Amino acid sequence: MSNYILNYLSQSIQNILYLLLFYTFNQYFINIYSILLVTLLYVINTKISFNIKPKNKNIPHLEKIANKELFDKNIQQTKVYTSKKYYGEIIYNKSKPNIIYIPENVVSKYNQSKVILYHELAHIVYNHKNKYIIYKYLILLVFMFLLTISTYMLILLIIIPLLSNYIKHQFEYQSDKFAVENTSINAVSKRLRTNQKLEPQLTLKKYIPYITPHPSIQKRLDKIHF
Ligand SMILES: [Zn+2]
Repeated sequence: MSNYILNYLSQSIQNILYLLLFYTFNQYFINIYSILLVTLLYVINTKISFNIKPKNKNIPHLEKIANKELFDKNIQQTKVYTSKKYYGEIIYNKSKPNIIYIPENVVSKYNQSKVILYHELAHIVYNHKNKYIIYKYLILLVFMFLLTISTYMLILLIIIPLLSNYIKHQFEYQSDKFAVENTSINAVSKRLRTNQKLEPQLTLKKYIPYITPHPSIQKRLDKIHF
């Protein structure tokens, strides 16, 4: 089974756990338990980052890439490492620093590493992680009030992960835009097209774009050109 499907399923299972807990304690009121739930969402989302240990080396020309103001405001709480993956990645840490990963084979390519850095940095600048937790909580809250427990299961398995991924897609577009503003359309498209060759093709994604947390590279290319 593809990783995408596994990710999707694990999201669904997480949602079920959250909502069961939510429903059990919080049938008609927003009370102390919903606050606990948000905390739990936060802790679970953050905990994932603690499991990943950076093994790779720092990137020496980081300061040259980032502009001074952004660097002072955000990068000082962020470490940048290389990874063997083909895409950039950010791992959030509640206790700083956050970690941005840049693919090893891109580090020597100045423009491409700049694009990746700005894209990942945008996730920090726009506070996407916390926004995601709040939006997801609101979605859960709305469904909680709209539905009874029997209809939950179906909805949880399908709709909530799709909505959550929809939010993530918007964050990706916003980060690409930020990268364009701080580099250029050409640099970002070049970087995306390089990635496109390595992007796994998932037929299901053509029909249900929100099955994965990231939009297809083609969609991202379309967005930055208009
Ligand atoms: Zn991103």
